[in-house]
Amino acid sequence: MILLDGKIASQSVRDSLKQDVANLVNQGKRAPHLAAILVGNNGASETYVASKVKNCSEIGFQSSLIRFEENIHESVLLDKIAELNNDPSIDGILVQLPLPKQINEQKVIEAIIAEKDVDGFHPVNAGKLMQGLPSFIPATPYGIMLMLEYYKISTKGKHAVVIGRSNIVGRPMSILLSSNSAYGNCTVTICHSHTHNLKEICLQADIIVAALGRPEFVKADMVKEGAIVIDVGITRVEDATAKKGFRIKGDVAFDEVAPKASYITPVPGGVGLMTIAGLLKNTLQAYLQNQ
Ligand code: NAD
Repeated sequence: MILLDGKIASQSVRDSLKQDVANLVNQGKRAPHLAAILVGNNGASETYVASKVKNCSEIGFQSSLIRFEENIHESVLLDKIAELNNDPSIDGILVQLPLPKQINEQKVIEAIIAEKDVDGFHPVNAGKLMQGLPSFIPATPYGIMLMLEYYKISTKGKHAVVIGRSNIVGRPMSILLSSNSAYGNCTVTICHSHTHNLKEICLQADIIVAALGRPEFVKADMVKEGAIVIDVGITRVEDATAKKGFRIKGDVAFDEVAPKASYITPVPGGVGLMTIAGLLKNTLQAYLQNQ
C-alpha cells in the first residue's frame, strides 16, 4: 500500500506556484489576489478559511478576508460580491459554504462573476467543465486530479466508483474521471443515497472516491484487493479524549481498508490539502486571464 500524501503532493504544487508568483513580481507585476468571505463563526469554516489565507501568504499571493455576522441580510453579502466583481485588483472570490439559512446559496454562487469564480461553482464554469472546455474546476476534484498526477497513477480504462453526487465534489469528480484526458478515461459509476447494492458496486471498483460525509462508511468488505481509495470525507466526531473535543474522520475506515488498497489517502493529510492547492491554482489562472 502506498500512502497518497497530501502534504507532499500539495507542497509540490505550492512550490511551483511560489516560483510563478516570484517570476511575476520580478517582472514588476502585482501578485494574484484572492478575496475570501466568511459569514458567521462556524468552527470548521473558520479553520478552512484561515488555512486558505495562510497558504496564500506562504506562496506570495495577496489575500483579503472579509467577515460578516451570522445574521447579515443576503443583500449585504450580494453587495460585497458586486463590489469585488468590479474591483480590478481582485482576481478570485470565494464565499465559504455553508451559509446561514436566510441566505440563498445558489444566488450567492451565481453572483460571483464566472471569471473570478475560483471555487468553480458558477453554472458557467460547471457547464464548461461538462463540455471539456477550459474552466475553473471545483477545488476538491481538481486537487484529487493533481494528486493522481503527482503520483502518476494510471486511470485509463479503470472502473471508478464515485460515492456522492454533490455539485462541489461527486458530480464534477465523475466528469473529470470520465473525461478524455491524461488522468481521466475511466469508466465511471456515480452512486448516491438512493443507490442499491452499493457494496457490490464498490467491489467492482478499481478506484473509489468516497465523498458522502459519513464517517468510516467504506469498510474493508466493500473494497477490492488492490483498489485505489480516495477519501474526501471530513466529519468532526466528538471525542472527549481529544484536545479539541473532536476528531476528524474520513468516509473510509482507514485502518481496515488500507491493507487491501494499492494507494489510499489519509484523513487528515490527504484530499483536504490538495483542495487548497486546487484553489490556489485556480486563483493564478484567474489572475492570468484577468490581466
Ligand atoms: P453533500 O452532503 O452535499 O453530498 C453527499 C452526497 O453523498 C449526496 O450526493 C448523497 O446522495 C450521498 N450519500 C449520502 N449518504 C449516502 C449513502 N448512504 N450511500 C451513498 N451515497 C450517499 O456533501 P459534499 O459537500 O459532497 O461533501 C461530502 C464529504 O466531503 C463531507 O464529509 C465534506 O465535509 C467533505 N468535503 C471535503 C473536502 C475536502 O477538501 N477534503 C471538500 C468538500 C467536502
